[in-house]
Amino acid sequence: MTRKLDRSNALYERARAAIAGGVSSDARRLPGTPLYLEKAHGSRLWDVDGNTYLDYVLGQGPAILGHSPELLAEAVSAQMRRGVTYSAQHLTEIEVAERVQSMVPCAELVRFNSVGSEAAHAAIRLARGHTGRPKIVKFEGHYHGWLDPVLFSVHPPVDQAGPGDQPVPVPGSAGVAAGQAADLVLTAWNDIEALTATIARHRGEIAAIVMEPVLCNTGAITPEEGYLAAVRQLCDDEGILLIFDEVITGFRLAPGGAQQRLGITPDLGVFGKAMAGGMQVSALAGKATVMESIAAGKVAHAGTFNSHPVAMAGARAVLELLDEKRDDIYPRMERLGRRLMDGIGAIASRLGVPMLIHGTGHLFQLYFTEATDIRNYRDFAATDRSAMARLHGLLLDEGINTVPRGLWFLSAAHTDEDIDQTLTAFEKALSRL
Ligand code: PLP
Repeated sequence: MTRKLDRSNALYERARAAIAGGVSSDARRLPGTPLYLEKAHGSRLWDVDGNTYLDYVLGQGPAILGHSPELLAEAVSAQMRRGVTYSAQHLTEIEVAERVQSMVPCAELVRFNSVGSEAAHAAIRLARGHTGRPKIVKFEGHYHGWLDPVLFSVHPPVDQAGPGDQPVPVPGSAGVAAGQAADLVLTAWNDIEALTATIARHRGEIAAIVMEPVLCNTGAITPEEGYLAAVRQLCDDEGILLIFDEVITGFRLAPGGAQQRLGITPDLGVFGKAMAGGMQVSALAGKATVMESIAAGKVAHAGTFNSHPVAMAGARAVLELLDEKRDDIYPRMERLGRRLMDGIGAIASRLGVPMLIHGTGHLFQLYFTEATDIRNYRDFAATDRSAMARLHGLLLDEGINTVPRGLWFLSAAHTDEDIDQTLTAFEKALSRL
C-alpha cells in the first residue's frame, strides 16, 4: 500500500522555502517527504493527509506514557495559568529533584537543563572542572548530543575511523572545532582490554569515561556480562569519573534507568527524554562530592529556561506516575516489546530474511545481518543499513512509524491489539522488501 501524501508533499515544499532543509532537526530528515502530523494521541499519530500510524518513535523516546496523556495536559495547563517562566526558584523543581533522588541510584544532587545535549555538556564540563584533568574517553557509536566537544565518531565512515580497538576521532559535521579532538580519546565499547590499554596510554590525564550504558544510538546493545563492573573498577582505581548518558535509557529501562537495571552506579548520570513524558526537561544528577563543584560555583552551569515551571510541572506528574505505577508500567512495556521482538523474529525466519533483534522490550533494534551477535559500532556498521532504511519506508506505508535506523520504542499506551496489528503490517512490509 502506498500512502496518499498530497498535503504533506505541499507542506514540505513550502517548508523548504522557509526552513533550512524543510526540517528543524537533522534527525527528522528522511529520504522522502517527512511526516507532517496533525495530532498524536496514545500509541497513534495522524498526519495531515488522513493517514494514521502506530508509533514506535514516540518523539525519539520521550512519550513513555504515549502521546498527550491527560495527566500531562492537566499539569502543564494548570501551571501555564500560574506563570510560564520565572527564572526563579519554585517548589515544583525541588519536588522533581527529590523524586529523581529517590528513583535514580547516582542522584545525590541534581541540576536541571532543557535538553539532553546541554545536560551531557554540563556533565563533561563538571568532570573536567572537578578533576582538573583535560581528557574524556568516548566510545565509537555513542551519541551525547550535537555540541562540539562530543560530536565525534557517532556513525563515522569505517574507512576513515582507524583500527577498531584504537579509533581516531572523526568529526560528525563540518564546523566542529578540530581542537576539540585533542581532548577526546576514542576507544571501542564492550571491550575491557581496549579500554584498559587506552587508559594506560593517557594515565593521569583522563577526567571521565562517558558512555550510553545500554547503547541505543547504534542498535540496542546491552553490555556484556561483567563489562560495566570492570569499567567501574577501572575508574575507581584511576581516579576517573564514570558518566552514564541515560538520556534514552533513563526512566525507560527501569524507574532508576540502566544503572538500576544493570546494578552499576556511575558518578554522574545524564537524563532527558522520558523524564517529562514529552516536555523539555533534562537533568544532570550525581554524587554529592562531585556535584559540589557546581554547588560551590567552581564549575559554571546556567540556562534561562532551567527548571522551567511548565516543564517541571510535566516532569512532576510523569515521574510521580512512573514511580507509583512502576510494578505495572515497566513489566507491561517489557512484555509487549518482547512479544513484538519474538513476533518479528518469527516473521523474518518464516520469510527467510536474516535478521537479528536486540533489546530489552522497552526498546529494541532490528538488524539485517547474518551475524549472530552485535557488540559495538564496527559490528553495527557491517549490517545492511540501506535495507533497514528501505524497510522503514515500507513500514510507514503500512502505517507503522519506527526510527529509521531500526530502533523501536514502546510506551505505556501500547496494547496487545497494537502489537497484533503491527505484526500483520510488518509481515506485509518485510515481504515487499
Ligand atoms: N544523549 C543521548 C544518549 C541521546 O540519545 C540524545 C538524543 O537523542 C542526546 C544525548 C541529546 O539529547 P537532545 O536531543 O535532547 O539534546
